[in-house]
Amino acid sequence: MRNMLGVIEGAVGVACCGGGALMAYGVRGLSATLFAPSVYRGARSRRSVALTFDDGPSESTPELLEVLSVHRISATFFQCGLNVLRLPDIAREVLRRGHEIGNHSHTHPRFYFRQSAFIRGELSRAQDAISNITGFSPSLYRAPFGVRWPGMREAQKRLNLLGVMWTVIGRDWKLEAPAIVRRVLSAAGNGAIVCLHDGRELEVRPAIETTIEAVRRLIPVLKADGYRFETVSQLICPMN
Ligand SMILES: [Zn+2]
Repeated sequence: MRNMLGVIEGAVGVACCGGGALMAYGVRGLSATLFAPSVYRGARSRRSVALTFDDGPSESTPELLEVLSVHRISATFFQCGLNVLRLPDIAREVLRRGHEIGNHSHTHPRFYFRQSAFIRGELSRAQDAISNITGFSPSLYRAPFGVRWPGMREAQKRLNLLGVMWTVIGRDWKLEAPAIVRRVLSAAGNGAIVCLHDGRELEVRPAIETTIEAVRRLIPVLKADGYRFETVSQLICPMN
């Protein structure tokens, strides 16, 4: 409880000192590293982008894997531990197809005002679920809702996880496919990390048809524009 109060007092204190904007930036800013180390784009030296998919695996992930296979593209899937436990075969299939898996917490909570132990538990339960079921131990982590909070730095450090935000988010839970494509293309550039979704938090059988349709349309355009597709680990490595 003292921890929690400390956090709240700290937040209020920062806000009262005119640092409310700084606090908000630290929590949600794409390039912020105030509460935890993270990246939001990769090397600008190569004409490459990384497609990332959050909140899976879901019942619709295999259809997305087919689209990626047709184009021989490797992507990065930030999976929730509970979804991995629910759909272990699909989680394994993602890895078998050559994609990278990242940690997206166990139950997809909002981490605002949560204690460090809670944050630590969420990250480590997801890490255990993913590594026990797929045999792959993630080195990347994407914060649910992009929310960073005190305690996250230590939780990531314990598990050796680098945070990954995004250069552009498709808002694919809301927009129609053409609008998603336009949004992504307007921000595409060397080293861009694109955030899309193959699930909806912990929802069973989520509707992700618009995401799949957007990916189907997006890939040929990016390819024609000279982009290669890399996993996030490849993209952030300057030596590739
Ligand atoms: Zn998410």
